[in-house]
Amino acid sequence: MITRFSVAMTTSTALRLTEHLRRADGQEDCTFVLWRPSTGSRRTTALIGDLALPQDGDRIVHGTVDFTSEYFLRAVGIAAEHSCGLGFIHAHPRGRRWQRLNAIDHAAEESFAAQAITLTGLPLVGMTFAGADARYGARVWQRHAPRTYVPTEAENVRVIGDRFTVTFNDTLIPPPEATNRQVRTISAWGQDTQNDLARLHVGVVGTGSVGMLVVEALARTGLQNLSLFDFDTAEHLNLDRLLHATDRDVRLHRAKVDIAARAARRSATGANIRIATYESSVVEPDGFAAAADCDLLFSCVDRPWPRAALNLLAYAHLIPVVDGGISVDARGGRLRGAEWRAHVAAPGRACLECLGQYDPAHVPVERDGLLDDPAYIKGLPADHLLRRKENVFIFSASAAAAQLNQFLTMVTAPSGIADTGAHLYHLTTGSIDQRLEGCDPGCPYHGPLRALGDHTPVDITGRHIAAEQARAARRDALRRRLLRFQQGLDDLLSRYR
Ligand SMILES: [Zn+2]
Ligand SMILES: [Zn+2]
Repeated sequence: MITRFSVAMTTSTALRLTEHLRRADGQEDCTFVLWRPSTGSRRTTALIGDLALPQDGDRIVHGTVDFTSEYFLRAVGIAAEHSCGLGFIHAHPRGRRWQRLNAIDHAAEESFAAQAITLTGLPLVGMTFAGADARYGARVWQRHAPRTYVPTEAENVRVIGDRFTVTFNDTLIPPPEATNRQVRTISAWGQDTQNDLARLHVGVVGTGSVGMLVVEALARTGLQNLSLFDFDTAEHLNLDRLLHATDRDVRLHRAKVDIAARAARRSATGANIRIATYESSVVEPDGFAAAADCDLLFSCVDRPWPRAALNLLAYAHLIPVVDGGISVDARGGRLRGAEWRAHVAAPGRACLECLGQYDPAHVPVERDGLLDDPAYIKGLPADHLLRRKENVFIFSASAAAAQLNQFLTMVTAPSGIADTGAHLYHLTTGSIDQRLEGCDPGCPYHGPLRALGDHTPVDITGRHIAAEQARAARRDALRRRLLRFQQGLDDLLSRYR
């Protein structure tokens, strides 16, 4: 049973829908659509794929909208044939923002909810299109008792592409309480934008040098719902780059993700920040599922396997991924140059594979554990991408800022511009290269994998030995500390006996 529900679609699907649903005569219109599930750990999303548009004579438009049973049967047949669920969208021509289900629409959708699930195996998704601003409300019809179908309202409807537009259900996710800590922030973009930004569920994958800065910025900006992912432990050699980390954290073998959560709680300007921490990699099944619960992800990892998983989340699960990276040229022990990148992986934009952010040939190498094998790494040429570790805090700050700007541009579209392309910054020349084209021809993320969700034929998740070892080492360290504490206590008590 789905308890938390969301709907996502690409910008190109949304444009086709708008073209169909906005009638010149101002009448209501409707269409059936196909959807596939994307199952997270707590939330299920319906990914809208193909449209089964009505043909002449399929619908009866008379103030409200109705359709023939032939049209329903044709659409449900196409859905079943493609192992998809059936969705039904109708328009409220003058509506704005989230459209709640009224009594007439409730009765109409209820009347075919049973047939839809019987014929497709998936529950009916109902959606209402607000004609004035092209936003949506949505719900899923599930069986609660024999012949009793009840709508569960979606939390939000997300449209993903050049821009990222999320319409929230104010009843389930109310706008944040106003606080006097965000006066300057709100003066920059207004209360409506703040309400949309603050309610986004953002995941930060990797809370190392770049991720820690991203978390800080999101908490300060007032975002209320963060999920943080990292299996690593803070070490002495991180301290020159890891914001908020202290010597004491290293001595206590603290997980980086716990340091990030502690800092985010202190820096938060929103009234009720919720932070979930995952000591897992996004390639482990539980990490991947928790990432699929998010509306948007920051990729602050540099390994090929997690990047491949994030690429899949961006295109197959329609969760935009703000990615970046740093490359320092320190041949001969001297700084010759540095580059950092920032871009968003999302349908219509170039994917991480096409941007060269990872080599798919390295994914199986990492899955086999070879990238954590010192002997394998030592065998690679000295200047190999997978061997290079040089970095400094200043470049991390630059990369984090560049990623945060990509995020802000995509969500707020200053002056109507949401996509400024993928950016590559050069320290030596002070210049920026922009890539505006999408994926290379034939890229599977751009084509066949798009919006497949749970039906994706490849399983990118698996056992991650290094993550398991890091967690086990932390547990051992904690056990040793407790033991020492207990011994100290016993010594103390014995003196008073
Ligand atoms: Zn209606
Ligand atoms: Zn691609």
